[in-house]
Amino acid sequence: MGTLIAGTVVADPETVIQDGAVVVEGDAITAVGDRETLADRYPDHERREFDVVAPGLVDAHVHSVQSLGRGLADDVALDEWLSEYVLPLEAAMDADAMRAAAELGYLECLESGTTTVLDHLSVHHATAAFEAAADLGIRGRLGKVLMDRNAPDALRQPTEVAVEESESLLREYHGTADGRLRYAVTPRFARSCTADCLRACRELVDEYAEAGGEKGSEPGSKYDDLRIHTHASETAAGVAAVEAETGKRPIEWLDEVGLTGPDVTLAHGVHPSEAERAILADTDTVVTHCPSANMKLASGAAPVADYLDRSVTVALGNDGPPCNNALDAFTELRQASLLGKVAGDDPARLPAETVFRMATAGGARATGFDRIGALRAGYRADLVGLSTATARATPVHDPLSHLVYAAHGDDVAFTMVDGDVVYDGGELVAADVDAAAIRERAARHADRLAERL
Ligand SMILES: [Zn+2]
Repeated sequence: MGTLIAGTVVADPETVIQDGAVVVEGDAITAVGDRETLADRYPDHERREFDVVAPGLVDAHVHSVQSLGRGLADDVALDEWLSEYVLPLEAAMDADAMRAAAELGYLECLESGTTTVLDHLSVHHATAAFEAAADLGIRGRLGKVLMDRNAPDALRQPTEVAVEESESLLREYHGTADGRLRYAVTPRFARSCTADCLRACRELVDEYAEAGGEKGSEPGSKYDDLRIHTHASETAAGVAAVEAETGKRPIEWLDEVGLTGPDVTLAHGVHPSEAERAILADTDTVVTHCPSANMKLASGAAPVADYLDRSVTVALGNDGPPCNNALDAFTELRQASLLGKVAGDDPARLPAETVFRMATAGGARATGFDRIGALRAGYRADLVGLSTATARATPVHDPLSHLVYAAHGDDVAFTMVDGDVVYDGGELVAADVDAAAIRERAARHADRLAERL
């Protein structure tokens, strides 16, 4: 038997159904339409009702394991933020701290409407995050970070070790949890990786995607959809540093070493040259826009409207808790639209439909999961139910406008991933651990780390 979830259904940016319903059977959506019609057709299904029912949002660039550093690195520029705060934090974390941080990050996502993440972990203890994601029920593409230069000793690895660890993790976790968890090979960025390391990332993905039986997989196997996830062109200073070393701007450099293409998601893309914009379009590389992080670190405003004009797929990301400082997907929708308007000096830029599409269909492409990002028969049952019983949500003339410009993650009452209820009325349902215990454990680890640092 299935579930009939009723409410004002925002199925995708173009489709709003007043008095609608979504029917879920197993892990899939089997019908979307008029509430009365569907209630007649499925009289025995369990009933749930929310004010607004929407697709789960996709956070296509997040660092869940930086959650313990929230509030530790405010009001500084990216280089100092990274070298003085964030890398020392990651270096000081053991497996238990990593697990506590990842659980906190995924809890925050699930309770505020994110059902899928593209998660940039750390160099060590990636296993802890995979286990946390498996247990809490979130959908995610996760990857251990590669750094073989310009890193603290505790995070810098010989190239072969970084690549071997990536290979062993992708073999262990890609396609697990009923396909909910997948792998992204995750070099941190050009400045922390040698050219050999960057090229090895491309070779690793291609070997698994194309090698058939060679790497323990058959053609058309689960390794076909491996992806690469890295940072690029976040700040003007970072662009200059890559240019000084390689003679090329970061996106040109990544293209030269093989890290562009439809299977690559680049976070930021704030300062592209004309040639780099053309590379992104020609190679069908995906960009994840992180407006809050870019504003907080004063990195600049990515040319999102221009990317979209060139048919570059753009997704949305929260980036890390130390540079956001929240993982609220609804806040990010609003920030993306507002920053786009300010940067373009045009209130018509990045309207609600556009940014909602970035956080749904764009996120599906960025994370490489098919059949997510819309409420449609045949799609995976990843959805959220929101309350509008607040002054802030009164009136709701236009549900899509409400979701982008007024809603908060706190309005989320119910989250379903892959047909499983994972969050309901303030509590994690799928996990053995409750939300309060996760917050308490994370706070304890965060205090210990803050003392050490
Ligand atoms: Zn990042």
